[in-house]
Amino acid sequence: MTTSAQLFATAKTLIPGGVNSPVRACKSVGCDPLFIARAAGSKLFTVDGDELVDFVMSWGPMLLGHAHPGVTEAARAAMLDGASYGAPCPAEVAMAQAVVDAVPGIEMVRMVNSGTEATMSALRLARGVTGKDAVIKFEGCYHGHGDAFLTAAGSGVATFGIPGTPGVPEGTVRHTLTVPYNDLDGVAALFAAHDDIAAVIVEPVAGNMGLVLPKPGFLQGLRELTTRHGALLIFDEVITGFRLAYGGAQSVFGIDPDLTCLGKIIGGGFPVGAYGGKRRFMERISPEGDIYQAGTLSGNPVAMAAGLATLAALAQADYAWLAARTESFASTLAGILADKGLPVVRNRIASIFTLFFTESPVTDFATAKTADSARYARFYAHMRARGVNLAPSGFECAFTSFAHTDADLEKTLDAAKAFAG
Ligand code: PMP
Repeated sequence: MTTSAQLFATAKTLIPGGVNSPVRACKSVGCDPLFIARAAGSKLFTVDGDELVDFVMSWGPMLLGHAHPGVTEAARAAMLDGASYGAPCPAEVAMAQAVVDAVPGIEMVRMVNSGTEATMSALRLARGVTGKDAVIKFEGCYHGHGDAFLTAAGSGVATFGIPGTPGVPEGTVRHTLTVPYNDLDGVAALFAAHDDIAAVIVEPVAGNMGLVLPKPGFLQGLRELTTRHGALLIFDEVITGFRLAYGGAQSVFGIDPDLTCLGKIIGGGFPVGAYGGKRRFMERISPEGDIYQAGTLSGNPVAMAAGLATLAALAQADYAWLAARTESFASTLAGILADKGLPVVRNRIASIFTLFFTESPVTDFATAKTADSARYARFYAHMRARGVNLAPSGFECAFTSFAHTDADLEKTLDAAKAFAG
């Protein structure tokens, strides 16, 4: 029995499913999870002594690579001054300044501790300022595990094929209207039928049904419809923020959302989220305004230090270089699989991609679900056995980083060449 297997057996008696987040259990790909001892650069090192090239990268945060020296040193130095104060600290102001400077739609920002908190808080704010209750979300998009978003959701909810979840009151999701991603007419129809829509929340590039790009005009159309109907446009940039570009998806697509949710990269691997946007809305947040939201550990000095070091490095980073490198790698990988006669659709933007084992272009959740998940499970197991860590679900993205070396990419391509299908 491997050390991972021993740990998993014990974990299952102590933690639901043996994991603290469902997809990690690797259930849908028919494997048991590997337990990680440490990580550096593009690599994970398991407790069993194995080394893997990592394309999960903590589900996105580690754009600079694991254990980046500058980030590690910043966090270490901050920790020596105390882990948490529950009082304001200079690093929070520096972080707010960095975010406001980077993200075009953010004039004021509030730090929280996860992407889930960011989206929950943004929705509360949108409801508070509009005095309306309903929210439009897109099928296959994931906005964390807040009650209002747990219907037709992506990520683990999609992986396990569940429509929603027990424990969410019917009265809560009654206010959540869902429509296919990229379906602007569907959004217009919802606005025509409902006069109580507070917000449209969207991943400007969807990353939780695998990677799905917005069709030309889709995001602009959302901007126009929300403005026309007095609803707020919320960009959930928890994945795309600081990854598509330093200014996020909104800077790439030239859209000005009312509110933006961030997470992952801004924490440099620590538990951090943030929501921000137009000053006139953010001023409604307590204690300046009347809409309540709070957090014991929010703006944590160690997390802020790691995040600031990450942003400082990314401000100098060559995003175009990484995008071109990822394109060439993902297309070669797709080509290797296609040459075997396997149907492969490749979606990619910047340093994110998904290969779907399907014939049809993937533009929404319905087309994402045409992908052959049994084949993906075989591919995952095949690659993992050869030292490559892919997401343990076909409804997720692969992330490259500035730390992935030529040798890492070649090792991955070689492993794929031996895949039988
Ligand atoms: N929004 C998006 C777009 C996400 O991808 C995620 C997590 N993968 C979340 C929100 C929730 O973030 P967290 O897991 O930090 O709560």
